[in-house]
Amino acid sequence: MSTAKEIAKIPQVKVLRAGIWKPRTRPGEFEGVGVEGLKWLFDAKRATGLMTCVEVAEPAHVELALEHGVDILWLGARTVVNPFSVQSIAEALKGTHIPVMIKNPVSPDLKLWIGAIERVYNAGITKIMAIHRGFHYFQKSPFRNAPMWEIPIELKRAIPNIPIIVDPSHICGRRSLLQEISQKALDLEMDGLMIESHIDPSVAKTDAAQQLNPADLKTLLNKLIIRDRQGDQEFQSKLEELRTEIDKLDGELLEILSKRMEIINEIGDYKIENDITILQMKRWAGIIEDRLSIGTHLGLDKDFLLNLLKLIHTESIKKQETRFKQQGS
Ligand code: PEP
Ligand code: MN
Repeated sequence: MSTAKEIAKIPQVKVLRAGIWKPRTRPGEFEGVGVEGLKWLFDAKRATGLMTCVEVAEPAHVELALEHGVDILWLGARTVVNPFSVQSIAEALKGTHIPVMIKNPVSPDLKLWIGAIERVYNAGITKIMAIHRGFHYFQKSPFRNAPMWEIPIELKRAIPNIPIIVDPSHICGRRSLLQEISQKALDLEMDGLMIESHIDPSVAKTDAAQQLNPADLKTLLNKLIIRDRQGDQEFQSKLEELRTEIDKLDGELLEILSKRMEIINEIGDYKIENDITILQMKRWAGIIEDRLSIGTHLGLDKDFLLNLLKLIHTESIKKQETRFKQQGS
């Protein structure tokens, strides 16, 4: 209640979200207070005027949340990975008109995310938002869940009208990264933020390292720069001009790549005729060295170049392999 009352004083805060049932990785960790908490949430709603929002992971949660006047529901990342769970919740939502937010699944699987959205939509729910909370990723990163912005951006392309709320708390896992990720979300035209707050994070029962106290939440929100999405006429025409240039250059880039692949095929055939292996390490090492040197002189980043060269090389080898197979070699 004290957290709710403090954050309600911040003008940007519109909704109080609280986990009543918490999916935990291992048993024995704090799993939420359960139904009792729904009463607290209702009291907090009355005291603050904020809308309330809880995670539902089972049909029974939906029923209980509705009974207790919750305004918005959300499906958590662990629920969204399981189409059976999503479907059973969708069935429980039928006939209601409550807004539903759908977190991305734990793994970077856009189709699974879209699938969950479709199941909820097919149950007759029309107010749907997506929540981007980052993805589990095996490589080391400063984040708890890698943001992989290309996936929510791709979701916007697939379902243009869907608002996407970003959850910097679960992406970052620690407070020091929250400002940067929140700003990035706004700069990428995401539609809102879901940020965890606690009156005293040091005693929070879960995720203490990523919680902000209400004063720090206020500072974070006030520091955010909300940039114009459109810009004025002059900005638009200059942007248009630059984009036309990019379109032209991309066209040239693709033509050059296609020409390169044609020559790769020719080399493949020539190797077949002369019984020579596909991969010639010495040549490849030479290419890397030469292209890196030229590219970095042109101001291109070394890692970027290396990734690009590897990608082109892999595709070239694949092309020649196909040629070899076709010739029955
Ligand atoms: C949460 O929102 O507190 C939560 C448990 O997050 P997620 O479902 O993204 O892991
Ligand atoms: Mn949490």
